[in-house]
Amino acid sequence: MTVDLHCHSTASDGVLAPAALVERAHARGVRLLALTDHDTLDGLDEARAAAERLGIRLVNGIELSCLWGGATIHVLGYGFSADAPALRAAIAELHQGRWRRAELIGQRLEAKGMPGAFEGARAVQQALGDSGNAPARPHFAEYLVRAGYVKDRAEAFSKWLGAGKLGDVKQHWPALEATVGLLREAGAWVSLAHPWQYDFTRSKRRRLVAEFVQAGGHALEVVNGMQPAEQVGGLSILVREFGLMASVGSDFHAPADWSELGMYRPLPDDLSPLWRHFEREPRLHAAG
Ligand code: MN
Ligand code: MN
Ligand code: MN
Repeated sequence: MTVDLHCHSTASDGVLAPAALVERAHARGVRLLALTDHDTLDGLDEARAAAERLGIRLVNGIELSCLWGGATIHVLGYGFSADAPALRAAIAELHQGRWRRAELIGQRLEAKGMPGAFEGARAVQQALGDSGNAPARPHFAEYLVRAGYVKDRAEAFSKWLGAGKLGDVKQHWPALEATVGLLREAGAWVSLAHPWQYDFTRSKRRRLVAEFVQAGGHALEVVNGMQPAEQVGGLSILVREFGLMASVGSDFHAPADWSELGMYRPLPDDLSPLWRHFEREPRLHAAG
């Protein structure tokens, strides 16, 4: 059975609406899917309706941003109760923060002679699907291309939006420990997203994993799309050492991009898949 526990819809920074994403996953043979939009549960109801229609298992999912060691870290939560009050409140707070951040990106671009970026990014986002969420950097990038300020999205990031550039507005995220605690309180299984993607030394990565475990984390995302096999190997070693479970996912955002639904490197056989629990736990079948 093909499993995909990491993907994004128009509820955050993906380009497919939740129903279209579930349809694409189904067409690609995925039978157990978690939609993990950034800091929102908004896509889950639409995704669930599509999953029920097609007969594929959908597990409640989310990718939450948090802070650890001066860096933004992503944590994946699965199978939680979507109406847990503390989780709802934390998401509402993040939602407000994202709007403030988008406005600030717009103001900064305007100050550099690119007016209307906030509205333009919002229009790009709305054209992809109706969303109550703030536009994100990919939406700003697309606007800058369309308005002729840059030649392509890559240039939008390298000049204006990428790490350390003017549009890279930091949001004040909660701490890793609080985020893991919040998810656990809502009944979630918690996995550390793409632990190799942070720009950490080997020893700092190991410390991150140790503190994630201490905070109550269950799993590492050992496989994130087509990441190099030696990274999968390195993360497998950490999973064995800490006695963790493993999760896998494509981190799909858009068709014909660097990832595809259900596509990722194989997980080593000896690791214990986090999703075994999704098959056993009856609470995970409850509608979000
Ligand atoms: Mn994303
Ligand atoms: Mn991520
Ligand atoms: Mn992601």
